[in-house]
Amino acid sequence: MNAKPILAVGSIALDEIITSRGERDDILGGSATYFSIAASFFAPVQLIGIVGYDYPEKGWQLFSKYNVDVADVQRVEGDTFRWGARYSDDLSLRETLYTNLGVFKDFKPILSINNRKTEIVYLANIQPSLQLEICRQVTGAKMVISDTMNLWIANDPDGLAEVLEKTNIFLLNDEEALQLTQRANLDEAASWLLETGPTTVVIKQGKKGALVATNNSRQHVPVYPHARVVDPTGAGDSFAGGFIGHIAAQPKPDLVQAVVQGSAIASYTVEGFGPEGLQQASTAGIHERMAAIRALMD
Ligand code: AMP
Repeated sequence: MNAKPILAVGSIALDEIITSRGERDDILGGSATYFSIAASFFAPVQLIGIVGYDYPEKGWQLFSKYNVDVADVQRVEGDTFRWGARYSDDLSLRETLYTNLGVFKDFKPILSINNRKTEIVYLANIQPSLQLEICRQVTGAKMVISDTMNLWIANDPDGLAEVLEKTNIFLLNDEEALQLTQRANLDEAASWLLETGPTTVVIKQGKKGALVATNNSRQHVPVYPHARVVDPTGAGDSFAGGFIGHIAAQPKPDLVQAVVQGSAIASYTVEGFGPEGLQQASTAGIHERMAAIRALMD
C-alpha cells in the first residue's frame, strides 16, 4: 500500500442500539472504530483512544483483522465509553438514550514519536478538548479533518470553534450544520462554516447524500441506492473513512471522488448491526458501488 498513514482519534465504544429491525447491546462501536475499519481498506490507520478493562477481546480481534495500529490505544481501570440510541421506525431519526464517557472523561493521550509526525489527522467525533490535545501533539500535521456531534455543539461551542480554526476539512451532518450555524438552509450553513477555518465543508444528509462545499463550488453526491438499511449507526464515521482513505491514497485527491468512496463504504455499514455490515465490504464490491453512485451523477 503506497497510501499515507492516517492518525485518528475518537470514541471506542460499546453500544446499545434499538431499531425497527431488532435490538442489540454491548456491540462494538464508537466513531473511531467505524472510521478505522472503513479507512483501512485504503490506507494504514494509527488509532488513538482509550478503553476500560471491560473492553472485550472481540474488539481487539476486529482491529487486528483490519491491521489497525492500536499501539497508542490505552487500556485502563474504569468503564469503556458506552452509548445507547433508538431509531424511529423508518430509521430516519435517532434519539440518544445515554452517553457515558467512562474512561474518556480523564483521558490524557500521549502520542508516540512516530504518531506525532503523521501528516493526515482525523479528529473523529469526541469531546473538542481531546481533539485539540491531539492537534497540539501532532506537530507534523499537514491536513486536519474533523467531525463532531450535537452533544458537543450544545455543550462546548467554544472548544468546537477552536477545533474549526485548526481544521482543513470539516465533516458534519445536516441537522448538526443547522444547529451549529443557526442558518436556514445547508447552502448558508456551509458558507458560514467556511468563514471559520476549513477550506472544505462536507455536509452529510443521510439517505439524501452529501454536499461538498468550498468557497467557489457546491457539489451534491447521492448515496448508493440499493442498500438495505438495518442500522444506520456508524454511517457517518465510515463515510469519513472512505473519504479520507481517498485523500491518503491518491497523489492528487479529488474531493468529489473522495465523497463517492465515502458513500460507497457507508452503504455497507448500514446493512448490518454495529460493524457487521462493514465487514461484508470488499475492494471489488466498493468499486461496484462507487460506479453505481457515479452513474447517478452523470
Ligand atoms: P454515527 O452514527 O456515525 O454518528 O456514529 C455513531 C457512533 O458514535 C456510535 O458507535 C457511538 O458509540 C459514537 N458516539 C455517539 N455519541 C458520541 C459522542 N457524543 N462522542 C463520541 N462518540 C459518540
